[in-house]
Amino acid sequence: MADDDGAQQPHRPALDLVGTVRHDGDGGVLDDLAEPAGAAAWLAEHAERFTGTTELPPLDEELHTELIALRRAARALFARAVSPGPASRADAHRLMPADRALAQLNAAAALDPVVPQLDWAADGSPARIRPLSTTPDARARLLAALARAVIDFLAGPDRPNLRACQAPRCVRYFVKAHGRQEWCKTSCGNRARVARHYDRHRTGATEG
Ligand SMILES: [Zn+2]
Repeated sequence: MADDDGAQQPHRPALDLVGTVRHDGDGGVLDDLAEPAGAAAWLAEHAERFTGTTELPPLDEELHTELIALRRAARALFARAVSPGPASRADAHRLMPADRALAQLNAAAALDPVVPQLDWAADGSPARIRPLSTTPDARARLLAALARAVIDFLAGPDRPNLRACQAPRCVRYFVKAHGRQEWCKTSCGNRARVARHYDRHRTGATEG
């Protein structure tokens, strides 16, 4: 999409998961995971970034429910991360309590206790690579990998720059690329400026 200049940002899989709740461009909110078919399609497109494998567990009702619960926990913790700034409008009014979200996230991560791995090519630098799974259960591996991505993000260097875009209709969490960035993308900034302009003129307020 032409207006998606957020795509220039480094890849952050936790944001992909959280961003499955998104605005529909028309004042409403879409949920890519709400229906099983949509959730399966999202996993088919994104799961490999989390798990390192294209092998997917079947999306039965239980996994679908757990996937949505995990994302709900992640969104509650994202809301906590941007506080005292405003949370995403999509669910600011119905967030899971932070302690429950934390317990849920950590329980998902514990489904697959992983083994860290170091890679170091003869001509390269030492690097942490994807950890080894310790469970044969593809469902547990998937949920744990999603949870780890959220943990890595929230405990990582990007968290202080996390914001919920407050442009009209936008519900997206994004990571500020520079200090003064207020909107998740240019089109949101344009929309927000138009709305501010309109508000000022409508109320007759003066700004200075
Ligand atoms: Zn936005």
